[in-house]
Amino acid sequence: MDRRKALQLMSIAPLGAAFGLRELGRAVADLPSTPPLPVLFLGHGSPMNAIEDNEFSRGWQGIGKDLPRPHAILCISAHWETRGTFVTGMEKPRTIHDFGGFPQALFDVQYPAPGSPTLAERTQQAVTSTHIGIDHQWGLDHGAWSVIIHLFPKADVPVVQLSLDRSLSPQQHYELARELAVLRRKGVLIIGSGNMVHNLGVIDWRNPEGGYDWAIEANSRMKELIMNEGHAQLADYTRQGKAFQLSIPTPEHYLPLLYVLGLKDRKEPVCLFNDRTVMGSIAMTSVKVG
Ligand code: ZN
Repeated sequence: MDRRKALQLMSIAPLGAAFGLRELGRAVADLPSTPPLPVLFLGHGSPMNAIEDNEFSRGWQGIGKDLPRPHAILCISAHWETRGTFVTGMEKPRTIHDFGGFPQALFDVQYPAPGSPTLAERTQQAVTSTHIGIDHQWGLDHGAWSVIIHLFPKADVPVVQLSLDRSLSPQQHYELARELAVLRRKGVLIIGSGNMVHNLGVIDWRNPEGGYDWAIEANSRMKELIMNEGHAQLADYTRQGKAFQLSIPTPEHYLPLLYVLGLKDRKEPVCLFNDRTVMGSIAMTSVKVG
C-alpha cells in the first residue's frame, strides 16, 4: 500500500492512526465493524435547497444532528445514470454543478469532502451479482452535495457515489441494494437521493407549496407501502395505477428509494420527514431507516 492510500485510510478509520502499517493493511481488507448505521432516502427537490434556510434544509440538518458519525458515505443519486454500475474511486471528487439557470451563489458552492478509494473497493467487493466499475471522472453531483452539505457542513466525511445502471429493472436495483447491506456494519452511511414523486414536465410554478391530487395520492400510497413493508409493490411501481405513472414518468428520481428499502432489515424502524408536495408535482418526502 502506498503512503497516500495509507493516509486516506486513516482519514476514514481514526483507529488506523494507532496501528502500524502492517495492521493498517489488514484494516483495508476488513474495515472496523460498527453497529448498523441508519439508511436515508432524501427528497432533494430544487438545487436551491443547498443554500436556502427552509423547512427542508432544516429537516436534513435535524436528521444530521442525530446520526452517529460515519466513517464514510455512499450516495446513490438520481443524477448519475450509467450503463453498468460504477462507484467513484477518486481521492478528491469535484463538486459538479449539473444544472442551469440558477443564481451565481449556487455555482459558487464547493463541497470539498474527500473521496474514499477504500470504500469504492469495498463496495465493488460487496456486490457479486454484477461487476461494479471504478470511475475516475465523475465526482459529487448536486443530488449528493446539495443534501449532504446540510448533514455534514464541514465536508469532513468521505463521500463515494454509486451510479444507477440504466439497464437494470427496478427489481434488480432492489436486489443490488441488498448486497450493499454489509457496508452498514462497516461505518458506512448509505443515502439515496431523489424524489419519490417527480414530474418536471407538469411543474406548477404558481403552486410552490402544494401538490396535484395525483401527486398527493401517490405520496400517501407510497408512504403507506413504505411503512407496511410493501416493497414488492413499490418495486413493481409501473403497475400501481395512474397516480404512480404520473408521479414516476422516468425512473431515476424514484430508484434511490428502492435502494434504501432494499437495505432495510425487516424489524427495523422507519420514520418519515420533510413529508410535503411542492410545485404540484414533486414530493420532498424523506425516509430514515434504523
Ligand atoms: Zn434531482
